[in-house]
Amino acid sequence: MTDIRSEVEPLDPADPLARQEQTFPKLNDEMISIVRAFGQEEAPGSGELLFERGQRSVDFFVVLQGYIEILELDLAGVPHLLRLIGPGQFTGELYLLNERQTLVSARAGVATHVIRVRRADFHRLLSSEPDVAEILMRAFILRRVGQILHANVGVELAGPGHSGDTLRIEQFMRRNGYPYRLLDTESDTDAAAFLNCFDLSEDQLPVVVLPGKVVLRNPSNTELADGLGLIEALDPEKIYEVAVVGAGPAGLAAAVYAASEGLSTIVLERIAPGGQAGTSSKIENYLGFPTGISGQALASRAQIQAQKFGARLAIARTVTGLDCTAQPYRLEVDEREAVHARSIVVASGARYRRLELQNYDRFEGNCIHYAATAMEARLCGGQEVAVVGGGNSAGQAAMFLSKGARHVQIIIRGSGLAATMSDYLAQRIANSPKITVRPYSEITRLDGDRLLREVSWTDRRTGTVETHAIANLFVMIGAQPNTEWLGGCLALAARGFVRTGSDMEGRALSSPFVTSRPGIFAVGDVRSGSVKRVASGVGEGSVVVQAIHQYLNPSIA
Ligand SMILES: Cc1cc2nc3c(=O)[nH]c(=O)nc-3n(C[C@H](O)[C@H](O)[C@H](O)COP(=O)(O)OP(=O)(O)OC[C@H]3O[C@@H](n4cnc5c(N)ncnc54)[C@H](O)[C@@H]3O)c2cc1C
Repeated sequence: MTDIRSEVEPLDPADPLARQEQTFPKLNDEMISIVRAFGQEEAPGSGELLFERGQRSVDFFVVLQGYIEILELDLAGVPHLLRLIGPGQFTGELYLLNERQTLVSARAGVATHVIRVRRADFHRLLSSEPDVAEILMRAFILRRVGQILHANVGVELAGPGHSGDTLRIEQFMRRNGYPYRLLDTESDTDAAAFLNCFDLSEDQLPVVVLPGKVVLRNPSNTELADGLGLIEALDPEKIYEVAVVGAGPAGLAAAVYAASEGLSTIVLERIAPGGQAGTSSKIENYLGFPTGISGQALASRAQIQAQKFGARLAIARTVTGLDCTAQPYRLEVDEREAVHARSIVVASGARYRRLELQNYDRFEGNCIHYAATAMEARLCGGQEVAVVGGGNSAGQAAMFLSKGARHVQIIIRGSGLAATMSDYLAQRIANSPKITVRPYSEITRLDGDRLLREVSWTDRRTGTVETHAIANLFVMIGAQPNTEWLGGCLALAARGFVRTGSDMEGRALSSPFVTSRPGIFAVGDVRSGSVKRVASGVGEGSVVVQAIHQYLNPSIA
């Protein structure tokens, strides 16, 4: 039997597979005896499958003697040896924290003895043995990072690199930490052979190919999540103490604190953990990360943390309704399933209003901004920029940006700023030689490569199109709360955000996050009057748990 470690030995020290001692550590005798207390010893036959790719709820194994082969399946469904797990080493990866499908299979070697820890006992082990848990968790994370880096246990996404659907699918897998290989059919020389092999024509792209030649043609996010085994069954009989709707920073914080304080917790998220922050390439103002952290990295850490404490994270699940007439509350999921909970945290956030333009997705997050802080202003030094919108936020952004930018164009559909902006701001803008207001105008075109290079707008009165070399566009046309699923259960403020706390006249206030319904709380961007920032969302999600305790157990409040 060859040890494939020599074949895959990476040279890059940043690659987790290069950090063998942490990625594939050996438990010492003391730790093995701790694990033994949670499982039982077995001697599987040589070649016996311990678990198979695609299986859910698999057990955890520590090798005492012999070895376990970890196998990946290629697209044709043929197994290949990925790694050998030897004495003192253990199987497992992030799938041990949830009910999603495993990405690999495991087969016992010759004369092998193992400790098998069943799933429920494994969770007990994690929560009661922090020293062992730390080693296991670090290894699981590094293993997943290695899989993403090497894309050796994933699936193949094939499609034109510039297609919106290719980007959507790629973004879904990336944000959910699912390993994949991308074959850009616009530029990859292997594209023709690939299409031929899977009998596909270009008009059927993009496709996702799973092991065993299973082809998903331009799947929706839900179809994709289903195909990848990311969707977990919901138990309609179970009554959770807390159901969190939305896994942005606020929802994830609520889940970590609720689960760590022993409340049975489920989080329902329609796309992927991270919310709006998950789309930010670098958050520089979040406490404790002086060099910044990508929203996705922050979200995946929080997701793992929540799952470690026992929270259920159901992703690619959209809450489509709320029945607040009976207790426990009933959340309708994907219009056909139900989750019951005694308390609910509304953390469904908001989405900034976007412009319906070709190429918009490509530039969003790096060249299209929804806030004008010092960070964004730095990108615009000495350049021309455009701000879309005629409200106060657009006015403030234009004034602020004009300090460093060469020129600021304000694009508005109306005749002027008087009706939509505070007078003092409109006056300052009128007096600034560095700001030009473009009335009756709409952005009609965005051009560039990886980055935005040109912005065009059309004057609707004359039809005149102007194109300027602009690399940063600020879209300040308001945010829209994700509250459509609330179905009239909660009092909303004028622009549809959820009213809470002191905003709720006539209610005894136990917390600033109470809504108009007992046991339903709102945190983060969805809450009327909240500060729309990652740190404030995390703060609100963390402290709301105290109010939930008081609501669930009034006697100990
Ligand atoms: C590009 C970008 C960059 C940013 N950069 C920064 C920054 O550098 N610093 C900073 O402090 N802030 C930044 N922000 C703002 C920050 O991201 C938000 O304030 C923060 O994400 C709000 O967190 P939240 O959890 O309240 O809501 P969200 O992040 O909006 O998360 C809500 C979640 O709920 C889910 N959801 C919605 N409806 C449903 C439903 N019906 N069923 C299930 N799930 C649902 C959504 O899919 C989403 O994942 C940025 C925002 C953007 C868009």
